[in-house]
Amino acid sequence: MGERIYNFNAGPAALPLPVLEEIQSELVDYKGSGMSIMEVSHRSKWFDDVINDAVERTKRLLGLGDDYDVLFIQGGASLQFCMIPMNLALENRPVDYINTGTWSTKAIKEADIQGEDVQVIASSEDKNFSYIPKSYEVSNNAAYLHFTSNNTIKGTQWAQFPDAGDIPLVCDMSSDIMSRPFDAKPFGLIYAGAQKNIGPSGTAMVIIRKDMLERTPDNLPSMLKYTTFSGKNSMYNTPSCMVIYTINLVLKWLEETVGGLEKMGQINQEKGALIYNFIDGSGFYNATAEKDSRSLMNVTFRLPSEDLEKKFVAEGLKAGMGGLKGHRSVGGCRASIYNASGMDAVKALVDFMTDFEKKEG
Ligand SMILES: *Cc1c(COP(=O)(O)O)cnc(C)c1O
Repeated sequence: MGERIYNFNAGPAALPLPVLEEIQSELVDYKGSGMSIMEVSHRSKWFDDVINDAVERTKRLLGLGDDYDVLFIQGGASLQFCMIPMNLALENRPVDYINTGTWSTKAIKEADIQGEDVQVIASSEDKNFSYIPKSYEVSNNAAYLHFTSNNTIKGTQWAQFPDAGDIPLVCDMSSDIMSRPFDAKPFGLIYAGAQKNIGPSGTAMVIIRKDMLERTPDNLPSMLKYTTFSGKNSMYNTPSCMVIYTINLVLKWLEETVGGLEKMGQINQEKGALIYNFIDGSGFYNATAEKDSRSLMNVTFRLPSEDLEKKFVAEGLKAGMGGLKGHRSVGGCRASIYNASGMDAVKALVDFMTDFEKKEG
C-alpha cells in the first residue's frame, strides 16, 4: 500500500482511516456471509442491520426522538434542492430562503422553477458571500425557512442558527453535519450530501420531522416523495448499500472512537483556532471570510498573488498535502478540515504554510 496524504479536498473528502481499514478487513467476506456488502441482498438481514444501525446512530448522535425519521435518498444534496419545495411547500404561503452562496443560490433556483412564492429574506451577495447575514425578517406565514449551515465554497458558517419561531427550519448541512452538537427541535428537515463529512458521494442523509411528512402531495412521482422513503425504511428501491454501510462505519467511529459530537465539536474548534490564528498572525495569508462568520470546516484564504497561490497548491501536493486549491468559481486556496482531518493534519498544514511563507514571503 502507498503512503496516504493529508487530504484537504472539499468533497468527496477524507474518510477516517480506521473506517477505511474496517471496510478493507471485511470487504471480501462480510460477517461470515461469504460475500461483500456490495453483493448481499438489500433485503437480507445483513443489510437490514446496517441501515437500522445507521439510523439509530444518527438519532443517538443528534439526540433525535421518535418524532424524526432518518432517510437515505440517492441524488445527493442537489436532488433535495427540488424535493424540498415539491414536498414541503404549502398552498398560498411563501417559502423563505437565506442566500449565503453557491449552494443556497441553487436551492433557491429549484424552488423558483416550481413556481413557488420564494422570499429571499436575507443575502450576503453584496459582499461576495463573505459573511453570514445578521438581520432578516421571516415571513409570518412561511411554509419553511431554508438556509445553508456551512458554505463549502465561500468558507462561512452559521455559528448560531437563525430563529424562525414556529416556522420549521430546513437546512442544507452537507458540509458540517455531525461536526458539532445542536438542538434539532426547530428543524423540520435537515439534509446532507454524504461526501463531505459522513461518507462517500451519491446519497443524501435526510432527517425529517414526522409532521412534515403530512405535507407531501399525492400527485408526486413515487421516487420524489419523502413518504415513499419513510414508509419503506429508504428501501422502496435498491438503496446505495455501499454508501450507507460506509456512513454507518463513520457514525460508529464518531460515537465509539471520537466520543460523540460534543467532543467532535471541541476538536473542530481547536483545529479552527490553530489555523485561523496562524493566518491572522501572518502578513502573507489572508482569510476571505469575515471573522465572526468563518467556517470551521472550509478554511478559505488568499496569498499575495495568483502565481503564488498556484505554487502553494503545487508545493503542498509535493509535501503530501492534497486539495488546497479553492473552488474553481472563486479561486484562491481552501483547506477543508472536516471531522476526518485531525489536529495532526492541521498542524502539518500550518507547518507547511510557515515554511512556504518563509521561502516566498
Ligand atoms: C457539496 C454540496 C452540495 C452538493 O452536493 P451533491 O451531493 O453533489 O449534490 C450541496 N450543498 C452543500 C452545502 C455542499 O457542500
